[in-house]
Amino acid sequence: MSDKTREAAKAREGASMGDEQISPALTGLIMEGQEPDPMTEPGHNQMPRPRFEPINREQMVMRVVDVEQLVDQDHPVRAIWEFVGRLDLSSFCEQIRAVEGERGRPTHHPRLMICLWVYAYSRGVSSAREIARLCEYEPGCQWLTGMKVVNHHSLSDFRVDHGKALEKLFAEILGVLTLEGLIDLERVMHDGTKIKACASKGTFRGEKRVEEHLEIARRHVEEMKAQSDEDMKGRVAKAGHRAKREKQQRLESAVEEFKKIRASQSEAGTKKEEIRVSEIEPEARIMKHNDGGFAPSYNAQISTDRLSGVIVGVGLSQAPTDYDELLGSVDRVEHNTGKLPVQVVADGGYTSGNNIHGMGERGVDFFAPVADSLTQLKQMGIDEAFSRQAFVYDEGTNSYTCPAGKTLSYKGKERRKKRWRYRYRASAADCQACPFKPQCCPKSTRVGRSVMRSEHESEVESHAAKMQTEEAKQIYKQRGQTAEFPLAWIKEKLGLRRFRVRGLIKAGLETIWACVTYNIQQWIRLRWRVQWRRPRLELNTDLN
Ligand code: SF4
Repeated sequence: MSDKTREAAKAREGASMGDEQISPALTGLIMEGQEPDPMTEPGHNQMPRPRFEPINREQMVMRVVDVEQLVDQDHPVRAIWEFVGRLDLSSFCEQIRAVEGERGRPTHHPRLMICLWVYAYSRGVSSAREIARLCEYEPGCQWLTGMKVVNHHSLSDFRVDHGKALEKLFAEILGVLTLEGLIDLERVMHDGTKIKACASKGTFRGEKRVEEHLEIARRHVEEMKAQSDEDMKGRVAKAGHRAKREKQQRLESAVEEFKKIRASQSEAGTKKEEIRVSEIEPEARIMKHNDGGFAPSYNAQISTDRLSGVIVGVGLSQAPTDYDELLGSVDRVEHNTGKLPVQVVADGGYTSGNNIHGMGERGVDFFAPVADSLTQLKQMGIDEAFSRQAFVYDEGTNSYTCPAGKTLSYKGKERRKKRWRYRYRASAADCQACPFKPQCCPKSTRVGRSVMRSEHESEVESHAAKMQTEEAKQIYKQRGQTAEFPLAWIKEKLGLRRFRVRGLIKAGLETIWACVTYNIQQWIRLRWRVQWRRPRLELNTDLN
């Protein structure tokens, strides 16, 4: 190709692409040191040159959007809208100040706000700012809002401002799911999981430091109050003053939290360690997670109905262990659904005399393995064959008989973790002379072997016997699949590994939002999707 021809080609391309910078590869212009393009080389003139779509970024475009067609008929956002539309949302309207006949901007309908949050959680989004961004371009959110953007402040406030209404909504969803035949409360599986709090470990301080910081915060607030009205004007100044007041409030609640922790420790009779509380989120507690790590967290308790895997009870607590969370959780299920479950299945972390007794009082058939204290036995060097179960209790004499036939007499009671325990001990002389001593009490030198009996021991013993039956073993086998699935789903799919809001109440509301989302997704999966499933083609195997 001659120079003239190349220039003409370049001019042609330039004209078709507007004034944009055109890539030499597109124009066919050969740059110095570049491999020649075989398409433009002499000998290839007979091949027609390819034509490309022009790109013009310097134009304004106006489109017509059919909002109704933004999402397909089987899009989950339509299911969420339909389901929430069936619920009574009047309790969400109680706080609305924008009313007909009055001035002011109208507010967003609670149905829209609930759908936005549920849809966002179902996509693993739990940030109000992110939802506001999604409203600008994501078809599901655009369909919900009718192409309007919802302010992130409104979204954020809506999530935490309707505590009672949200609890009512959760119960109402359970009512709808019961009518749809997805809940029967015949067998409820219960489990707990630790979810990280907003605050980090670095915000935890001892009591002395918190009190020092509180003094400083109080001084700052006093100085602020002494400022003139002129200094208090302006958005930035107001925000600064609000931040100082909030800091003082947080530190005051941190000081209160020290008192609460000390009171609960003395009531439970637990060891008094150095207490540390977060200055940012005083209600968070350092808890152990399944990976062995420790982090500021809350303990979420979730009860799931076995029939369709619907969550029927949810609660959040500051308790580092699950022992004391079961009875409250069962009562919550009754509060939400109007009746108690027939059976409750939980893991060994919930087996305690108190829980067995409490379940018996409520008439609930309780299944949980009697926690083996193998680790404890190992620490004491006791052989498994000489665990407490090997000692026989005699109610008449209020004493135990050991495997060697010796008597362990009653030695007194002690209070531990809000429960009474009774101690029985063998005589030192018996144990020192016993051939089983190396397996039974290898570390005892001056006293004999002792065993503890809880205040509900007879109920624990019959519970342990029940758990040995084949039926109980089969029922317990179903626990993991039903109880752990929603916990994993909430953490992995809905992304609730760390709360986005601070404090026990707000974090509790976020847990309910996640459970509401999970339950609606269960309904979509089990009921709504069915109408969109294509019937399977029946293969005609009859070839004759
Ligand atoms: S060591 Fe003491 S309690 Fe244990 S079997 Fe022997 S006599 Fe009984």
